[in-house]
Amino acid sequence: MLVVVAGPSGVGKGTVHTELRRRLPDAVLSVSATTRPARPGEVDGVHYRFVDRTTFEGMVADGDLLEWAEYAGNLYGTPRAPAAEAVARGEVVLLDIEVQGALQVKAADPDALLVFLQPPSFEELERRLRGRGTEDGATIARRLEVALDELAGAGAFDLEVVNDDLDRCVDELLDAIAVARRAATDDVAF
Ligand code: ADP
Ligand code: 5GP
Repeated sequence: MLVVVAGPSGVGKGTVHTELRRRLPDAVLSVSATTRPARPGEVDGVHYRFVDRTTFEGMVADGDLLEWAEYAGNLYGTPRAPAAEAVARGEVVLLDIEVQGALQVKAADPDALLVFLQPPSFEELERRLRGRGTEDGATIARRLEVALDELAGAGAFDLEVVNDDLDRCVDELLDAIAVARRAATDDVAF
């Protein structure tokens, strides 16, 4: 089944996904396509598939993406085929995507579990984003502005989980995944 963990930049999605994969052996992380330039240390095909805008638009036109969205000036999307193949094998496919994309996933696959990761506070979100040190000041300001909109959309998700203590947060997610998995059908709906 598909499991989306969305939430504002800096809330801890990447950290939570790493921990989920460690504790859930049959979980795989979907590798998104993006037009964003790679950060130092990011590897093409591992963290993202880095493509130019023309290539991305071709993927959209060909129906190769399960969902896609523009976020802070760049395009991001989930390749459909690898996700569908993993779901067909009975694996849990984790999607680290933003809010608009999450809602598209639910529309494509009603069995998908949509989780919104909440920061303990907006101040802590800003602290984490700055503390990560991967974006310049202007980019951080833009991401915090987008975060306000994203936080307003949390009510559309199946579940909201606060990422205060990482272990507690992941425990809660694993419980929710186990319940949703029992209810999900084996069909690949997308
Ligand atoms: P996202 O993928 O949502 O942008 P990251 O996983 O990169 O966020 O996390 C942003 C920063 O917050 C990182 O420096 C990470 O180590 C830190 N972080 C993540 N989860 C927690 C937590 N539960 N408590 C404290 N710091 C956290
Ligand atoms: P970043 O640039 O920090 O890697 O990601 C920026 C935002 O884009 C994050 O909220 C991340 O979850 C989201 N994102 C990453 N991949 C995808 C994707 O395939 N689709 C959508 N809709 N959002 C994505």
